[in-house]
Amino acid sequence: MIYLDYAATTPLDPRVFEAMLPYLRPDGVFANPASTHAAGFKARAAVERARAQVAALIGAEPGEIVWTSGATESNNLAIKGALEFRGSATSNFLHIITSRTEHKCVLDTCRHLEAHGISGRAVRVTYLKPSKLGVVTSEDVLAALTPETLLVSLMWVNNEIGVVQNIERLAPLLRERGVLLHVDAAQAAGKLPIDLQRTPVDLLSLSAHKVYGPKGIGALFVRRRPRARLNPQMHGGGHEQGMRSGTLATHQIIGMGAAFAAAKADLETDAARIGGLRDLLWSRLQLLPRIHRNGGDENGTAAIAIAPHLLNVSFEGVEGESLRASLPELAVSSGSACSSATAEPSYVLRALGRDDEMANASLRFSIGRSTTASEIERAAALVIQQVQWLRELSPLWAA
Ligand SMILES: *Cc1c(COP(=O)(O)O)cnc(C)c1O
Repeated sequence: MIYLDYAATTPLDPRVFEAMLPYLRPDGVFANPASTHAAGFKARAAVERARAQVAALIGAEPGEIVWTSGATESNNLAIKGALEFRGSATSNFLHIITSRTEHKCVLDTCRHLEAHGISGRAVRVTYLKPSKLGVVTSEDVLAALTPETLLVSLMWVNNEIGVVQNIERLAPLLRERGVLLHVDAAQAAGKLPIDLQRTPVDLLSLSAHKVYGPKGIGALFVRRRPRARLNPQMHGGGHEQGMRSGTLATHQIIGMGAAFAAAKADLETDAARIGGLRDLLWSRLQLLPRIHRNGGDENGTAAIAIAPHLLNVSFEGVEGESLRASLPELAVSSGSACSSATAEPSYVLRALGRDDEMANASLRFSIGRSTTASEIERAAALVIQQVQWLRELSPLWAA
């Protein structure tokens, strides 16, 4: 099997696996990091080292990192927590700006708030439509601001098409206007340089398992200066400065720290090598006529940045389900990884203006640290062969 689904999840990096072992062994460091005895202090010290490793990758301070169970929880905590805290200070309704191409967990959180309100106040949400290349500009965001806007939530890198939003440009514009900016960086961390000392994002969501760390652990960056304030969504022992209660998962946290340290050490070499493989895959696939790259422009050279690990392609003249079924050796997603159970065409590709048929006849290839050039060559050959075969069978294509 050729695994080209690193945007869905990654395997543990061997360095991460090694780092986690002492915290998993029955005779290892198992004490509760909140306990006030020597064994607890040892676990606590390890958790704090990991916190510093996560902070270092994004130019944050360790005290700005709050552990969560993953980016889904971080996104929920950021959006609901910020609205709940700020909501009590303002008028009769609250306004959020986001985009139609956000991850489901941001869109569903927004829909939940629209349906139920928060702290007795109504919530309105503007879902910005990106350009057909996948970009939401700072101008689009500024034009949607109202006096009631509390929060803008925009992802740094889209998980289906890889389009990089210009957060560096947007963040200072929102800061000047006193509007909070939350960024889902699950696909950006370890892929692009992020420096939150220079980029005034208020809240930023991270996940370990997209960066060769374990599943079930993530973090929310919560800025200290100026302080971004949140109401907790998980109530209990008051862990994590009161923002997220629950016993810390030491082994997972150590894994996330090791994964982020490895990502920092390898950032440039990974991006160059993985981006090179992605470009190789695209150049091979272009042997096929009438295929379309989703996100950015067709040849990937325009001013629009695409994260190095992602390539999303629509194939004319084939049916999406048949195409995926014809490629059992390939672990790739359709554009709609999260809703593939419902077999609906990707809402992200639909938001770019692709029709249902083109949105459905798409493959998302995502490349990672252990991908080799020969795997890319083999994957390209398989896709080309199957698309040609399916097209030959199709009466529509013949016409
Ligand atoms: C994977 C992903 C998430 C969800 O992260 P989990 O840690 O699996 O909850 C959120 N946003 C984006 C962009 C993702 O790629």
